Amino acid sequence: MKQTSREWTFASPVTELRNIGPEKAKLFAKRNIQTIGDLLHAYPRDYEYRGRVVPLSDCRDGEIHAVLVTCTDNPSTGKTYSGVPFVRMFARDESASLTVTFFGKPFLASVIRKGGRYRLYGRFTMGLYGAESNTPEIEQAGYGTRLRDIVPVYPMTAGMTQNLMRKAVEQCLPLCGRIREVLPDDVRETYGLMSKKEYVRQLHAPSAEEDLMRAKRSAAFEELLVFQIALRSLRAEKEKQPAPVFRTDGPPLADALPFALTGAQKRVLSEVFTDLRKGVPMSRLVQGDVGSGKTVIAAATLECCARNGMQGVLLAPTELLAEQHFATLKKWLEPRGVRIALLTASVRESVKKQIRSELENGEIDVVVGTHAVLQESVAFQSLGLVVTDEQHRFGVRQRAALLERSERNADGLRAHMLVLSATPIPRSLSLILYGDLDISVLDELPPGRQPVQTMVLLPEDRERIYKSVRRQILQGGQAYIICPLVEDGEDASRMAAESYYEDLKTRVFPDIPMGLVHGRLSGTEKAEAMKAFSEGETRILVATSVIEVGVDVPNANVMLIENAECFGLSQLHQLRGRVGRGSRKSYCVLLNGSGKENGRLDVLCRTADGFQIAEADLLQRGPGDFFGVAQSGEMPVGNAQFTDMRLVAETKEALNAVLPRLSEASFEQLRLAVSEKTRLSGNGKTVN
Ligand code: ADP
Ligand code: MG
Repeated sequence: MKQTSREWTFASPVTELRNIGPEKAKLFAKRNIQTIGDLLHAYPRDYEYRGRVVPLSDCRDGEIHAVLVTCTDNPSTGKTYSGVPFVRMFARDESASLTVTFFGKPFLASVIRKGGRYRLYGRFTMGLYGAESNTPEIEQAGYGTRLRDIVPVYPMTAGMTQNLMRKAVEQCLPLCGRIREVLPDDVRETYGLMSKKEYVRQLHAPSAEEDLMRAKRSAAFEELLVFQIALRSLRAEKEKQPAPVFRTDGPPLADALPFALTGAQKRVLSEVFTDLRKGVPMSRLVQGDVGSGKTVIAAATLECCARNGMQGVLLAPTELLAEQHFATLKKWLEPRGVRIALLTASVRESVKKQIRSELENGEIDVVVGTHAVLQESVAFQSLGLVVTDEQHRFGVRQRAALLERSERNADGLRAHMLVLSATPIPRSLSLILYGDLDISVLDELPPGRQPVQTMVLLPEDRERIYKSVRRQILQGGQAYIICPLVEDGEDASRMAAESYYEDLKTRVFPDIPMGLVHGRLSGTEKAEAMKAFSEGETRILVATSVIEVGVDVPNANVMLIENAECFGLSQLHQLRGRVGRGSRKSYCVLLNGSGKENGRLDVLCRTADGFQIAEADLLQRGPGDFFGVAQSGEMPVGNAQFTDMRLVAETKEALNAVLPRLSEASFEQLRLAVSEKTRLSGNGKTVN
């Protein structure tokens, strides 16, 4: 027996809602929605502006519009060759006539009537006999029906429909009135924010575009503020504990390297060493473009730790990277008396056991491995330093987890933490994303590196491009070819890695050994394909953007990116960083698959400075994408997509105003929201 809506609370399971039984509840659970409170906090990802109705004659070919039409005839029905039923509707407005075909919705035949008024929302094309549309959204628009002008679009999972989600959320809206405010009234007033009660309602059921704008702004503001406070409190928590004091006056690693350090490397190392002498746990992020020489920083810091009689860890995101780091560190550090080991999933069980026991006895100084292996069940004799490379996951909870493990240190000292990131992020944003870290920037590349010659080309240049690729390979080089999608999907205009690979292999490069990597492959399959390429067995690697993360194949000198217009500038820059690592002259071809002029990509031809490119990216796409990039997985701020730079600046200002007052009574809900975010368990959603 279901409760009445009056009896619902935020903790009521979604099965209390009309039309939701245990089967549908499973669909919701897949999106982490169990309760009515969860549902209210599952905000739309986008909106359809169906209220912006245009005359049919103004519809632009191939674009999405809303139109208001009268049905001029009874609908006809039929079946396609493959047996899909369709309903055809004939309609017009004052400006033109329209033929609509609805596929797979036979029930519409009995709903649509001659003379009826309908609002349609979808893609319109201009055919021989006037406008046409396939399966647009249809709503009855007669007198007395009030249609929503702005319709929410929710993130979906397989089996879920927009209608199911919309109807479920609609039932919960009356509970908005009971949502507790997170920000005190005076803070909301200062920054012109809606109350949470109101913005949650507006996000799901906007009354007008201006209200929706304010609601988005209010939600994003609150999340950004909570996120920043959470980072600060993590840091404060951490600094309460002492860390080992390191002496940093040993023989410098630089003397043993075959090259001189860049000015930036020297500066960053001195910043790191200053931290290590203080007795306060270091929390430092080193941001440096690909190839800026971050490994040297890691190596010198790990050596310093070892010299001070403590153990250090280097965490890499993939096995391949862990192996590469291990090889480098072994070469540099072992001759200097540092004992070093590699621990990844593919290390034999007996060897793993051995390494674990040596770590416990203090017979190993430095261990290199993957997050997956090192974050579970490894005990150290005395852990003094955790270095994390290429960490793209910056959720508060993930950082909390890293801290948690350094706390297990037997002598009660906190380990120092160094994070290396190859994702240049504009300074204005890094202050927020890394509010708990000090930031060092490696803004200088080692000398003698050849710039990668970059060009934007169009699909009609393809045969010529393939010829040049072939020439480079015959001269001993190797090429990456990147496609945005994995399988032939709905969006056929984009290249799909698998079919593209087959086509290249049979038609274009039948005589050249090729490999393929994409996200759907298993870890071992990916690693094998990468290995074959890095050992030069395969000469062309077709890939989706999974190869982005730190792979080093110095012999590769061509990067061809299909549908470059689908990628962000920073992502393209990262991809380009895979070439130009050896002595060969290197090329990056950005294939603009849209065929239309696209000045956006030209920045990449002009500069190789990742920070400049990131700034341009920020101007073009707004900060939401950076939060997304830094996250890829867990979003720190669910509404970050809605933020603009002004808002980012305002939340920074609010942070400074709020921090000193955080212990006041009116800030209780805010404190709760913050502790919810930093807690290690739970799903991180604030449910009132
Ligand atoms: P990152 O991790 O920042 O992308 P790496 O640490 O892998 O960069 O360094 C890239 C390459 O440059 C490596 O082959 C490394 O040995 C070399 N390198 C690093 N520092 C210098 C330097 N100061 N001078 C010359 N080569 C350097
Ligand atoms: Mg690196």
